[in-house]
Amino acid sequence: MKVLIVNCGSSSLKYQIINSDTEQVEAKGLCERIGIDGRLVYQPAGGEKEITEAAMPTHSEAIRMVLDALVNPKTGVLKSLDEVEAIGHRVLHGGARLTDSALVNEDVMAAIEEAVDLGPLHNPANLMGIRACQKLMPGKPNVVVMDTSFGMTLPAKAYRYAIPTEYYEKYHIRRYGFHGTSHSFVSKETIKYLHLDPDNSRVIVAHLGNGASITAVRNSKCVDTSMGVTPLEGLIMGTRSGDLDPAILEYICNHEHITISEMNTILNKKSGVMALSNNLSSDFRDLEEAMNNGNEAAGLAVEAFSYRVAKYIGAYTAAMNGVDAITFTGGIGENAGIVREKVLSYLGYLGIRIDREANKKRGETFVLSTDDSKVKVIVLPTNEELAICRETVRLVKAE
Ligand code: AMP
Repeated sequence: MKVLIVNCGSSSLKYQIINSDTEQVEAKGLCERIGIDGRLVYQPAGGEKEITEAAMPTHSEAIRMVLDALVNPKTGVLKSLDEVEAIGHRVLHGGARLTDSALVNEDVMAAIEEAVDLGPLHNPANLMGIRACQKLMPGKPNVVVMDTSFGMTLPAKAYRYAIPTEYYEKYHIRRYGFHGTSHSFVSKETIKYLHLDPDNSRVIVAHLGNGASITAVRNSKCVDTSMGVTPLEGLIMGTRSGDLDPAILEYICNHEHITISEMNTILNKKSGVMALSNNLSSDFRDLEEAMNNGNEAAGLAVEAFSYRVAKYIGAYTAAMNGVDAITFTGGIGENAGIVREKVLSYLGYLGIRIDREANKKRGETFVLSTDDSKVKVIVLPTNEELAICRETVRLVKAE
């Protein structure tokens, strides 16, 4: 079955065509700068990347351009859109009403709409992506795969915030967790790769990308996760602050005469390693280079990021009364050896030993710990698109 995978961000859209029988990617690419000017990247498997600059006022035009590229007589991988049998969408937030993958119907759309408050950047884009696919490929099943699903197995002691119960009851303010598709995929693959027992294992997955989060996975179920009611909590990220004292908000708003929503934007878009590096960059390639050239702010950003990850690993080891395996994934986790080394340098007390030669590798699955390390540490590239494809096929076949 050919499945189109759609992952809409606030101003971007990533896509892939996956053949679910072979699990091979037949074409992939992304639309960038949606709502600004517009740029489509399209790459058929084994072929050259094509880049087209064209106006994309919304995600609807972006989807239209993706579909045109897929059926383009010269380089398209489809003869017609009829070949697409299902569409799988990554969706950020469904609040308390929609917590599991589902075939799209009016109820599902209403739940995503209702959670726009909780995912103001992603949910509107997700809705637009689904509507465009419904319009351009009528009759095809659309499936939503929720970023929050994996966090639904958290016990109350992990998901409740210590604030008045009425906010939990009225507004479902609780820890949801995000990157669920990635954490679910990577934890399962870790268990397979290391031959751990799915029903008796303790795995910590550090998904370190532009957005970063970490999960504690006990017996294949997520028991704690660092992101909260929104993807702002937890680790320091590219431009997001992660954990901080909530009293900072009022203090800065009062002194700077800014509104709470302006402050929220600052915490989401102008904080993180970008802020710590004095606005040098949110990209670890730039930070590492600057750090090696003696830039102290860049050095602090990398150090603080790694320290926060190490603290969470310590906390999640306590949450599970031990840990059998730690997995690094995401753009930084898969590629930035310097971050992995710094994180693991805090964890010698767990008997973790790092193989420095192995740590030079990147972008592939490998064991990072030495044979005598008490905890296995691995790097395992995430594949959210494949996980979404599998889930889409499962739901379509179950229909
Ligand atoms: P993601 O959000 O998972 O796609 O991760 C994107 C981030 O990964 C980038 O912003 C970089 O910080 C980081 N990254 C990607 N490639 C490298 C690399 N070769 N070395 C260090 N960091 C990298």
